[in-house]
Amino acid sequence: MDHFPIFLHLAGRRVVLSGGGEAALAKLRLLLKTTAHITVFSADPAPQITAYAEAGKLTLIRRAMAPGDALCAALFYAADEDDAEDARTAALAHADGALVNVVDNLEDSQFITPAIVDRDPVTVAIGTEGAAPVLARAIKADLEARLPATLGPLARIGKAFRKAAEALPFGRARRDFWRDYYFSAGPAAIKGGEAAVKGALDTLLTEHLSRQARPGHVHFVGGGPGDPDLLTLKARRLLDEADVVIYDRLISQPILELARREAVMIDVGKEAYGPATAQETINDLIVQHAKNGAQVVRLKSGDATVFGRLDEEIEALDTHAIDWSIVPGITAASAAVAGIGQSLTRRGRNASARLLTGHDMKGFADHDWAALARPGEVAAIYMGKRSARFIQGRLIMHGADRQTPVTVVENASRPNERILATTLDALPAALSAAEMSGPALTILGLAPRAATDAAHRRNTDVIPTLYRHAESLQEAR
Ligand code: SAH
Repeated sequence: MDHFPIFLHLAGRRVVLSGGGEAALAKLRLLLKTTAHITVFSADPAPQITAYAEAGKLTLIRRAMAPGDALCAALFYAADEDDAEDARTAALAHADGALVNVVDNLEDSQFITPAIVDRDPVTVAIGTEGAAPVLARAIKADLEARLPATLGPLARIGKAFRKAAEALPFGRARRDFWRDYYFSAGPAAIKGGEAAVKGALDTLLTEHLSRQARPGHVHFVGGGPGDPDLLTLKARRLLDEADVVIYDRLISQPILELARREAVMIDVGKEAYGPATAQETINDLIVQHAKNGAQVVRLKSGDATVFGRLDEEIEALDTHAIDWSIVPGITAASAAVAGIGQSLTRRGRNASARLLTGHDMKGFADHDWAALARPGEVAAIYMGKRSARFIQGRLIMHGADRQTPVTVVENASRPNERILATTLDALPAALSAAEMSGPALTILGLAPRAATDAAHRRNTDVIPTLYRHAESLQEAR
């Protein structure tokens, strides 16, 4: 982020603008929304600017800018529509100590003006650092359509009620009150005008003051394989409402960004082989926060019920009679088979698919190898990188075909997804050559869908690095 967004307090401060044409007018329309003292320098101002001056909305000085004209100005806009004049006036303003913006010239500007959605006092500023003004306008249009015009009045009336609302305890109780106001009681009352909204606020406050504090609750939420678009709507909502989020190592940053900024974020990341935070400590943390009355999201990667040590955490909560619920997520196996364009089950090929772990608490995990070695079997192997050689050995010992396709999908669903298509025979060597450092799912019995069939997927914007490798292997077979 090269440009840091802030909201500048302009009440009573000077803003100076040089220019009298269309560019100046465009900026002035925005600046006139503020309570700043605006001074415009222009020898030849557009009639609209003259009209603004006559209405007392700004000070118009009918000449070109000179040294000292931007003294004490917080902001300066060079809107001269002439590169040389812009450079001259910008240098003057700079010398006077103002922050300078040169219209349509990102390079020479110290700050830029975002696209604005105005529901004063609610203001949404959209910036793309000059990269995509079209995108900024599209986002603005989208928000304009989505944010009701009543948002402004509701926020203004709400602001005046903030002191009264302090009768509610800080934190969840107060947040619940405001949520009810903005999303239900407020919009319902707004048609009746300001008095009706104020009445609704009083009624709502009385009701909330007499409410029992909500008891703590724990949601075990599946965070999916990493792509935030693969979260369920429920997961998004709970993340947005959580007081405390306790998350694992594999939860990706874009997903954590969806939590409220005030939420307590606790990283209990476990490393493969041996937890970084002991399970008992995690259990204690969850229990302690829920007992304090917090709405806790226990965020686990993929689906919380798949290799997530869920039962241990549930037992700890049951011991303390704390309410909990499970919100399913997309497990890595689903994301990985989607990534290779395959179906996890298929009529005539495999009527079942297994989810296995490569290692468990005791070391390499044991399985029904004889059953897995049969032709056509499909298994999704979690945590299978380090146990690849062990698994290969067991399967071959039990009669598996050495040419059985095996596909490893690293970082499934993420921008850095990689697909390694190999065979049971070559698995350990191919894995160590690929040097995968991200989470990887090994799919036994499936190869990526053949190149010809995969053509329709070419138009996706992320083509995994090893995908071509996978295709050529497939063709060779
Ligand atoms: N509950 C999770 C699994 C946790 S065990 C789920 O349902 O997906 C952790 C293992 O999951 C990793 O070692 C890896 O094998 C697999 N995994 C998790 N996220 C993955 C991803 N984005 N891509 C590939 N494998 C992933």
